[in-house]
Amino acid sequence: MSVPVYLDHNATTPVASEVAEAMSIALRKSFGNPSSAYPLGQAAAEQVAVARNAVASLIGAKAENLVFTGCATEANNLALLGVASACTPNKRHLVISAVEHPAVMAPARQLEAQGWRLTIVPVDEAGRVSVEAVVDAVRPDTALVSIMLANNEVGTLQPVADIAKQLDNSDVLLHTDAAQAVGKIAVDVEALGIDLLTIAGHKFQASKGIGALYVRQGTPIRQILFGANHERGLRPGTENVPAIIGLGVAAELAAKRLAQANTAMRDRRDQLHQLLSASIPGLSLNGHFEARLPNTLNVSFPYVSGQALLNAASDTVMASVGSACHAGESAPSGVLGAMGLDTQRALGAVRLSMGWDTTQDEIATAAAALVHAWRHLAYGA
Ligand code: PLP
Repeated sequence: MSVPVYLDHNATTPVASEVAEAMSIALRKSFGNPSSAYPLGQAAAEQVAVARNAVASLIGAKAENLVFTGCATEANNLALLGVASACTPNKRHLVISAVEHPAVMAPARQLEAQGWRLTIVPVDEAGRVSVEAVVDAVRPDTALVSIMLANNEVGTLQPVADIAKQLDNSDVLLHTDAAQAVGKIAVDVEALGIDLLTIAGHKFQASKGIGALYVRQGTPIRQILFGANHERGLRPGTENVPAIIGLGVAAELAAKRLAQANTAMRDRRDQLHQLLSASIPGLSLNGHFEARLPNTLNVSFPYVSGQALLNAASDTVMASVGSACHAGESAPSGVLGAMGLDTQRALGAVRLSMGWDTTQDEIATAAAALVHAWRHLAYGA
């Protein structure tokens, strides 16, 4: 039996062979501690520096403004809790969107439990915040606005650069969780005008266990873990050298392949949408039609539950309902709820996310299996 087509790249991506090769060499040979003064340690430190340059260059940042973390969740926690910790008592208000990943939502709720005021800005039916609503939510005591760049479930892109322009002359900091955006669309910290930006390695062909936070020079932020002085004191703990090297290689690959991969993923995404729409009357797209990640297709199948559909097609397709972190839960996704979808449509939703190397044949195979499963479930055909 052939391997099912993998259409869940928003959950995680395969590790690129170049990344695996570089990590394997690092695991075997570059085991030195970058803090050690002798050549083995300094060679590891040099490789970490090379990787930092590559990741920084991918997002138009300076290497010294990048902090490596254990994952995107940790980067988001550092952004929110680290900024909060550096704030004066008269700045204890935070603004986020209603469709943030739990890795932002949960630390925001944690701050709320500690007495911070939290404003959650609603989204429209396409999953977008309005720039005006975000700016209107800002008050004299606002310390930080955190709005994701791309949504993990529906792929909708938020108007982060426009929000940044509006906040330009204020002392309010702007963080964006770009975990889903980096490696899929061009991301440039200067063009975005943000102060803090989160990266997730395993969403663009690096390994799990590595993320990064971009922190603009001069941003008031304090560490949330306490230990030695790694990562300019912002993230103590001996560096995960193999994973950092892998992240650097993934960043180089992304820089080389992004333009072509972006177009290829968009073509596959639209091919899949067309194939499904042609055979499934009433199929509806969730998310913004245009302002959307090129790889993400979230559609609601009528009359069936998305999970039942994926179970029925599981020999042929791997995909998910909602984000992977909620897999196993049958309640409709909070993101689709925030977009105002009714329960039936939300429960019928499936997220299909393409990768750099997804082929037309894989899309044709996956579409045929999904249509077959849908006909069987909806009509017993
Ligand atoms: N932010 C977004 C938008 C995500 O999609 C994810 C993972 O799905 C995360 C943060 C958390 O990433 P990780 O689990 O690697 O920490």
